[in-house]
Amino acid sequence: MNLNKLFPRLTIRAKLAIAFALLAVVPLAAVVAVTTGVTTGHLHAGARAALRHEVERSRAQMERSLAQLESDVAYLAYAVLGPLLDGAPAADWRSAARLASSFLAAERTLFRVQLVDADGRVLLARRAPDGGAASAEQPEAEAVYYAWRAQSAERGRHLLLPVELRGGGVESDGARPIPAVAVLIPLRTREGELRGVVVGEARAAELFAHLDLASPTLPGVTGLVDATGLYLYHSARKRDWSSLLASNTEVSLRRDFPAAVVAQVLSGRAGTSRTSDARLVSFVPLSLPGSAIGPLTLYRAVPLAAVAAPARRYLESTALMSLPLMVLVLGLAVVAGHQFTQPIYQLRQAARRLARGGAPPALDVATNDELEDLAADFTAMATSLVSHRRRLEELLAERSRALQHKHAELADILAHSADAIVGLGLDRRVRVWNGGAERLFGYRADEATGRDIQELLGPRTAGAEREAAFLERELAERGEVVNYQTSRLARDGRLLPVSLTQTLIRGGDGRPVGYSLILRDTGAQARLEAQMRRSERLAAVSVMAAGLAHELNNPLAVISNRLECMERDARERCGDCFLERDLDVLREHTARLGALTADLLRFAGDGAGEPGPVDVAEVATRVVGLLERTFAARHIRLEFCATRGLAPVFASGGGLETVCMNLLLNAAEATPAGGCVTIEVRPSAQGDSVELRVADSGPGVAPELRERVFEAFFTTKGGRGGTGLGLAVCRSVIERCGGRIWVEGGAGEGARFVVSLPFTWLEG
Ligand code: ADP
Repeated sequence: MNLNKLFPRLTIRAKLAIAFALLAVVPLAAVVAVTTGVTTGHLHAGARAALRHEVERSRAQMERSLAQLESDVAYLAYAVLGPLLDGAPAADWRSAARLASSFLAAERTLFRVQLVDADGRVLLARRAPDGGAASAEQPEAEAVYYAWRAQSAERGRHLLLPVELRGGGVESDGARPIPAVAVLIPLRTREGELRGVVVGEARAAELFAHLDLASPTLPGVTGLVDATGLYLYHSARKRDWSSLLASNTEVSLRRDFPAAVVAQVLSGRAGTSRTSDARLVSFVPLSLPGSAIGPLTLYRAVPLAAVAAPARRYLESTALMSLPLMVLVLGLAVVAGHQFTQPIYQLRQAARRLARGGAPPALDVATNDELEDLAADFTAMATSLVSHRRRLEELLAERSRALQHKHAELADILAHSADAIVGLGLDRRVRVWNGGAERLFGYRADEATGRDIQELLGPRTAGAEREAAFLERELAERGEVVNYQTSRLARDGRLLPVSLTQTLIRGGDGRPVGYSLILRDTGAQARLEAQMRRSERLAAVSVMAAGLAHELNNPLAVISNRLECMERDARERCGDCFLERDLDVLREHTARLGALTADLLRFAGDGAGEPGPVDVAEVATRVVGLLERTFAARHIRLEFCATRGLAPVFASGGGLETVCMNLLLNAAEATPAGGCVTIEVRPSAQGDSVELRVADSGPGVAPELRERVFEAFFTTKGGRGGTGLGLAVCRSVIERCGGRIWVEGGAGEGARFVVSLPFTWLEG
C-alpha cells in the first residue's frame, strides 16, 4: 500500500501514526474476523441442529396427540354415533349419548363431540364433564359450517380445523372465545352422499401445549400448516385465534415466507432453510400413518440475529477492548514518529534558511545512524554553498559596477552627442530621446517619449508619405538606411535639413525589437562650411591687405617726409599761403592713407598679441575710459554696465580691445547727437559664456545686411572715410577665440551687436 498516494498531504508523523495503527489493527481485525466467522458458523450449525431437534421432538408429540384425537373421534363416529343415523330407536340414542359422555370423561384432550346431519342440524352433542351439560341447541352457524366443510371434503378424508368455541352452552371465559381444533369425520352413504358429520372438538391450549414449550433455547415462531399452507397453529398468533379461522389466507404460510421457502416447507420433506430476511426455518412433515387427515407440516423459524447474538456480543467486547489498545498504539506512534522525524524537520528548517540566503544553523542530530550522516553531509554542502554564493555575489557586484560604469559612459555619450539619437519601438514610438535630439528639435525627452516619430518630426506633406513608404521598404529589405538626406520639422516650425540613418535592432533571439534613428543637422554643417570658406577668403584678403599696407607704408613715408620739407620751404621761402593750404590738404590725405594701412595691418591679424585668459569686463572698462571724451564731444550718452568677477575667456587682450573700440566707434557714428549708446558685459543665459553687448539708438541694420556688414570692405560710409574693415576685423578676432558675433534689431530700432565668448575654466 502506498501511503503517499493515499494521503499525499499528510506529514511524515501522521503517516507513521497511520502505519502503526494499521499494523496494530489489521492483524487484530483479521483475528477477530476469523474468530467471529468461525464462531458465527458454529453458532449457525448449532442453531440448525437445535432447531431440527426441537422440531423433531415437537413432531413426535404432535403426531401422538393428533393420532389420538383422530382415533378417538373416529371411534365415536364409526362405532357409537354413526349407526344412529340409520334410524336407531331412542334407547340407542340414549346409550350412545351415555357412551359418548363416559368417553369424554376419560379423554382429557377431547372437549366436546357432536353429531350433525347433512343440513347442519345438531342431532346429538356431548361435552366433557368438567365443561357442563351440552345441549342439542348448539349455535346453528357452527353446525352449518361443519356440515358445509364436511360436504366439500374429499371422500374418505377427515378434516382438521381451527375453531373458536363461544356461547351455545359452552362455557367460555366471559366474552372471550375458546381456541380449539375440530376433527370433522364426514359420514356418507355407500354412494358417497353425506348423511352427517361427527365433530370432535379439542382445546387448542391442551392439544398444542407441548408446542408452546418447544422453544427453550432460541426465540422464534412455531407453526402447524396444512397442505395448502393455512395455519392450524401459530405460536405468535394463538391469542388471536380467530385470524386462523375460516381458511384465512391473510395469515397463511405464503404471507409469512418467500415462495421458495414455502415450496420447501410444503414439499413433504424435512429440512432447514435460510430466508432472505435472515431467518432460519426448520420444518418437518407430520407422519400420521392410517390417518385420513391431509398432510400437515410443523415448522419453527428463528431470526438469525438471535442465533448470531453471542458472536455480536463477542465483536462488541473485542472492539471495546481494542480501543485502549489503539490509543496506546497511536501514542507509541507519535512518540516514535517524533524520534524519527525530529532530525528531518531540523534539516528542512536549515534547507529553508539556506534557500532564503542565510547561513544554516549548526544541526544537533546525534542519532548515530544514517540521519546523523545525512546531517553532516548537509552541513558540509551548506558551508560550500554559502562560500560559493559569497563569491558569486562579489563577482556580481563587480560586474554590476563595471556595467554601471559602461552604462554611464554610454549614457554620457548619448546625452552629449551633437547628433539626435532616437530609440524607437517596433510601433515607431519614441523610447529614447537624447540631448542632441532635444537641442536639435526643441522637444524635451519627457515630451517626446511615447509619441509616434512620424507625427512628431515628419513634415506633413504627400512627399513625406512617399518617403516614409520608401524608408519602410529599405528597412524591411536591408535592415538599415544610411545617410539619407531629408528634412524634419523642429518644434518651432523650422524645417531642418538632416542626414538620416535608421537601423533595425534585433534581440538576442534574432527577432526585431525596435529601431535606432540618428539625425544629423546638415544645415549646421553647411553653415560651418560657409564659415570656413569665408575664413579662407578672409585669410587671403588678410595676406593681400598686409602686403598692400607694407607696400603703401614706404611711399607714404617718403611722401610725408617730402611734404614736411615742402611745407618748411614754403614757410621759409615763399610765404605762399595757397601752397601751404594745398600742402595741408595733401598731409591730411596722407594721414588718412596712413590710418588705412594701419587698419589693413590690424586686419591682417598681427599685433593683436598672444591669446591668454582675459577678463572681458576689464577690457571693456579700459576702452570705455578711452572713448568717454569722444562720446561727450558728440553729445552722445554712453552707459556702461558690467558683471564683475566673471570667469576669464581665452583670447588676445589687444584683439578684444580692438573689437570693443570698433563696436563703440561704429555705434557713436551711427547715433545722432543726443542719442544713447549702452555697453554691457554679462554671463549668457546658459552660464557657459560671457556676452558683450553694444546697443545704440541709431538707424539699425537692415535684416538683409546683417551678414554682409561683417564682410571685409563692406561699408556704407564711402565718402566719410569708412574702410569696411572694422566689423570684418571684429569677426576674425572673435572667431579665432572660439566665439561668435552677430547683430540684432531691425531697421529703425537701433542696432545691437552681441559678442559671445566661451568661458575658460582654469584649473585650480
Ligand atoms: P566702416 O565703419 O569703415 O564702414 P565697418 O566694417 O566698421 O566699416 O562697418 C561696416 C558697415 O556696417 C558700416 O559701413 C555701416 O553701414 C554698418 N554699421 C556698422 N556699425 C553700425 C551701427 N552701429 N549702426 C548702423 N550701421 C552700422
